[in-house]
Amino acid sequence: MANKESFRCGYVAIVGRPNVGKSTLLNHILSQKISITSSKPQTTRHTIIGVKTTSENQTVYVDTPGLHQGAGRAMNRYMNKSASAVITDVDVVVFIVECFGWLAADEYVLKMLRDSKVPVILVINKVDKLKDKETLLPFIQEASGKMDFADVIPLSARKGTNVEGLEKKINSFLPLSDPFFPEDQVTDRSERFLAAELVREKLMRRLGQEIPYSLTVEIESFKMQKKVQHIHAVIWVEREGQKRIVIGQGGGELKMVGQQSRKEMETLFGRKVFLQLWVKVREGWSDDERALRSLGYGE
Ligand code: GDP
Ligand code: MG
Repeated sequence: MANKESFRCGYVAIVGRPNVGKSTLLNHILSQKISITSSKPQTTRHTIIGVKTTSENQTVYVDTPGLHQGAGRAMNRYMNKSASAVITDVDVVVFIVECFGWLAADEYVLKMLRDSKVPVILVINKVDKLKDKETLLPFIQEASGKMDFADVIPLSARKGTNVEGLEKKINSFLPLSDPFFPEDQVTDRSERFLAAELVREKLMRRLGQEIPYSLTVEIESFKMQKKVQHIHAVIWVEREGQKRIVIGQGGGELKMVGQQSRKEMETLFGRKVFLQLWVKVREGWSDDERALRSLGYGE
């Protein structure tokens, strides 16, 4: 570490409605899909998704399971509870919206942030996709008036435009502190967890509109056999109809999800993966606190 006295370290939450580019931004900042250096569980304040260490600072990005409207069902209640706990307990919040306009779902996230004592940086993402550049300035002005933001930064998470500027700003809000994690550690999540998340990501990308939150992935077994990682995963849905959608015509959908997930797992884990996916129905699981807990959600 270059200069111990001026080293900064702290927690950052990236929030925003689905699809604004939170994962893309994080992957760009970390320069990789989060890879594993340690599978030991850690007792920290948050669930860490990514750590970036330079000679001057260590930025710890933490998970917010998402901010969702209509917290009626058990799943939504759990998600909102942990999201608001995270927001109040970090050093900086990065709030992402798209540059095309301010939606009701953005307003919902804003409401949760409005009373926050933590500085909130507004990121206006996807500027590379803006057809009419003239609209950016008025939108920045409109968005800036929504609350007292610490800064407003237009950028492209996909192209990486202006991401360094954002990182500089983030780091300026971190407190002076020794690093919390070894400098080569990028995440604290287990491979087992990341495997489930990868399958869930593929399903959400392909079927998100059709079956949003009634879907979860559980890793039943995760074993090494003859240098091959054998993974059995169960995709839990709520209804028979959803099971049919996930499986698709002649099993085509499930096959694609399996192939894409396996490829990414092999890159991530650096070894061959044999992945088996099963789809099972558990009626009303997302509305049943006990079922949620048994699937690893909740306290
Ligand atoms: P999240 O749900 O907030 O994590 O959003 P994702 O990171 O999964 O991004 C949602 C979609 O927006 C993906 O298809 C991304 O490739 C795309 N996306 C994210 N950032 C940008 C960007 O800066 N420019 C463009 N054109 N697309 C982006
Ligand atoms: Mg994401």
